[in-house]
Amino acid sequence: MRRFTVYDSLSREIRLFVPITPPKVGMFVCGLTPYDEAHLGHGRTAVVFDVVARALARWGYRVFYVQNVTNIDDRLIARGGERGIDPLKLAERHFLAWHLAMETLGVRSVNYYPFATDYLPEILAQVEALVSKGFAYPAEGSVYFDVARFPSYGALSGQRLDAARTGTRIEAEPGKRAPEDFVLWKAARPGEPSWESPWGPGRPGWHIEDTAITGRLLGARYDLHGGGLDLKFPHHEAEIAQAEAATGERPLVNYWMHAGMLQFKGEKMSKSVGNVVSLQGTIGRYGPMVVRFFYLNAHYRSPLDFVEGKSLEEAREAYDRLAQPAGRLAEALARSGPERAGRELPAEVATAATGLPNSLDETLAEDFNSRAAIAGLFGWARTVQEWLPHLDALSGSAISTLEAPFRWGRDVLGLFEATDASAGRERLDPLVRVVLSARTRARERKEFAEADRLRADLLTAGIRLEDRGAETEWHAVREPES
Ligand SMILES: [Zn+2]
Repeated sequence: MRRFTVYDSLSREIRLFVPITPPKVGMFVCGLTPYDEAHLGHGRTAVVFDVVARALARWGYRVFYVQNVTNIDDRLIARGGERGIDPLKLAERHFLAWHLAMETLGVRSVNYYPFATDYLPEILAQVEALVSKGFAYPAEGSVYFDVARFPSYGALSGQRLDAARTGTRIEAEPGKRAPEDFVLWKAARPGEPSWESPWGPGRPGWHIEDTAITGRLLGARYDLHGGGLDLKFPHHEAEIAQAEAATGERPLVNYWMHAGMLQFKGEKMSKSVGNVVSLQGTIGRYGPMVVRFFYLNAHYRSPLDFVEGKSLEEAREAYDRLAQPAGRLAEALARSGPERAGRELPAEVATAATGLPNSLDETLAEDFNSRAAIAGLFGWARTVQEWLPHLDALSGSAISTLEAPFRWGRDVLGLFEATDASAGRERLDPLVRVVLSARTRARERKEFAEADRLRADLLTAGIRLEDRGAETEWHAVREPES
């Protein structure tokens, strides 16, 4: 197992990661409340923690990664009411769209997506334990956590109780003793989906779902909890309070990781601010790998600014500088096969290539600095550029050696994956060839303006030409718009 460090939001320091039961790692990340289509900000958190899980697996840990789905909540009920759809069905529908987006983005490390309503027995048991230990009180069919009984409340976020009083997610709650008390079980209003409980029909509060699920799947204490920075308070604070009070064991979580917010127009991207950009739409427009690159080419704890018409265009250009040599090596290797005889690499190049994946691991092992790892790949891409004109002369194993750092990028960062763009390439190739032969004829007639116009037209359509001696290659600079 490789040693690595992580910034723990609770202790506010970079700490060496030590699992409770090595090599196992229990990992939980707050998932979606799927009352609407996912936006670009949701995608960032998902990709950040996908890389954490991928890296852990590569480094010899056995990760069990759980991401919950809050399939019942006020907003789902409100949205379902507006559209005349059962809120549980609405959640399922949006979750399926989310799952598809994750598949496209290459987020495949989550082992299990538990739905809140599948854990009613665990939720009720946890609420009952809190009531019987005096940490929670029923009022008018609901149950509230008594924050005054848990003195360390606020330690994670550094929030003081007076600030906590404005941080509640729900408005009118009759019978609540203090504004900072949070709901564990919520009495149902007529017509709302509800489940039986000792306090009457109702549904779980938002925070209790997570700890009921993790209690069941990961135990009373586990290794790693992730989520967006905006969930630190009150959500994660509430998780700590209710779980530690219910089980008497602490700490609930050994390492808290929070991903920075995606910002658009100077504010956190969120439905409530109204500055959202669709995740699916962006993936469709730029391709999943460019979106993934955009997320990972920033430190995960930093805010990431999205500027319309700029950020993803720049990401595409930068990503292409990596993907193009990576793609050329993969193609050349597919042509030659690993066994082909040919020129070998000079010893210093081969040594650099075989040593780089390890040093990229070391870079990432310092609090998952994916941006620094990507910088390492850019350095390698410059070396590879010098070899691209000579690939046909190289042995299969030499090409494979050159490719090693990019394979690291594919395995750990999830970049350079063939996406639909490669299927699109096969479809497009005959058409591009038609334009290419028209361009060749124009050049033969010395009609260079016409040749240049054809090149420019292709670029407008998202296809960049590269003349290599007598041959012309083409590359999709973005996926064709469908
Ligand atoms: Zn959560």
